[in-house]
Amino acid sequence: MKAYDGMYIGGAWRPAAGTERITVVNPADETEIATVPAGTAEDIDAAVRAARAAFPGWAATPPAERAAHLAALRDTMLAHRDEIAETITAELGSPIGFSRAVQAGAPIAVAASYAELAASYPFEEKIANSTVLLEPVGVVGAITPWNYPLHQIVAKVGPALAAGCVIVVKPAEDTPLTARLFADLVHGAGLPAGVFNLVTGVGPVAGQALAEHPDVDLVSFTGSTAVGRRIGATAGAAVKRVALELGGKSANVILPSADLAKAVKVGVANVMSNSGQTCSAWTRMLVHTDRYDEAVELARGYAAGYVAGDPRDGASRLGPLVSAKQRERVRGYIEKGVADGARVVAGGPGAPHPTGYYVAPTVFADVTPTMAIAQEEIFGPVVSILRYEDEEDALRIANGTVYGLAGAVWARDAEEATAFARRMDTGQVDINGGRFNPLAPFGGYKQSGVGRELGAHGLAEYLQTKSLQY
Ligand code: NAP
Ligand code: MG
Repeated sequence: MKAYDGMYIGGAWRPAAGTERITVVNPADETEIATVPAGTAEDIDAAVRAARAAFPGWAATPPAERAAHLAALRDTMLAHRDEIAETITAELGSPIGFSRAVQAGAPIAVAASYAELAASYPFEEKIANSTVLLEPVGVVGAITPWNYPLHQIVAKVGPALAAGCVIVVKPAEDTPLTARLFADLVHGAGLPAGVFNLVTGVGPVAGQALAEHPDVDLVSFTGSTAVGRRIGATAGAAVKRVALELGGKSANVILPSADLAKAVKVGVANVMSNSGQTCSAWTRMLVHTDRYDEAVELARGYAAGYVAGDPRDGASRLGPLVSAKQRERVRGYIEKGVADGARVVAGGPGAPHPTGYYVAPTVFADVTPTMAIAQEEIFGPVVSILRYEDEEDALRIANGTVYGLAGAVWARDAEEATAFARRMDTGQVDINGGRFNPLAPFGGYKQSGVGRELGAHGLAEYLQTKSLQY
């Protein structure tokens, strides 16, 4: 077991203020792999001061130079892609192929996109007799979750630095090693001291201290709606900017004209990847009553293909959940689904593996829209299949949760699917299996959040406007 020291503050690893430690566990075999310091309010304060000191210089750095720094960071990340993937697999448990392609691949693509956007973004705008300056908001406090540990950090660091902001990151306590590796990559890329700072720690101590720090200008949070609500309230009371990327309960709407086998296959894959720990996962599959039984059989078959195994083995298609706590939470939902009268057609609450925080790939049929498993975010490899009578019914069910993060629509042609997608109360919809676009804005309607990440829309979150009249 490796004991790591220090917080990355002001361009160097500095001793932590306190003595508390966080133990990092490999969720696939439950071994303790490392410890890192648990930050305190004192560490957060030192990091915010370092960021504040770096702000004027970075804000005044020409966008083309900021772009060059981000390009260097992208190159460094690319050069360490395998190490990133291995670190994420070790502390999160996602299968190594997925770690390489998505967990490491997506943030590299996002870093690349901000290297380009920093150079091309119009930081000045003319409106009649006014010139509008788009200026960086200042010091950003970023609080991130464990499910895509590097992506969630880069989705904040990329646009913040491109905009001319400086940042302090408090990563999830379950995945601090990925965050530490990223700090080393930032260092290796030669970014100016204090522009990026990292304090590892637990949410109620380091996270809360960052969210409450009076010298943080913008809090950007990704995680649960419960914590997001509190962070939003704290930021509101201080009249400070806040961006919240929260939970989801997205609908995969399969219209009667769709290629059912393809829609079910992609739908099941969407939930099983990353063991269902994806805020935008399509955890509710909506199928017309005439094709319902066929869809359930197909889903049962596809789910059976997700065999749980060691995530370091390239053949494993399903890794464990991140922690024992998450496994218990997900099992609790599966038990609740059974108690509420839903029918388990694959998986269930039992353990598919003797050690590790595994949950079996689970498919529920006969799920009704008001059941807890159809309303609440489970964050595990669990798909609920719901039945609808007609398109209006499908729309009511699709829109009938407090969330609105993502979704999918399948139909014979894209126009028919698009017409349905226009009526959905949600931030992004994949039409007939559309590909992830790292430049498209990502964020929630309703209680799925406030603000957008990625691309030019994500960059705009880190800017404030100043109008000069002539
Ligand atoms: P969480 O508690 O909301 O964690 C997200 C981040 O917020 C972590 O860095 C966490 O630190 C920090 N945090 C926790 N309490 C805080 C506080 N009082 N003040 C400031 N920061 C705080 O989520 P979780 O406990 O990891 O997961 C619980 C559920 O949240 C999941 O089952 C899932 O439904 C949802 N979730 C959603 C997303 C998403 O992408 N939308 C991601 C992860 C989880 P710690 O790591 O120390 O807790
Ligand atoms: Mg937590």
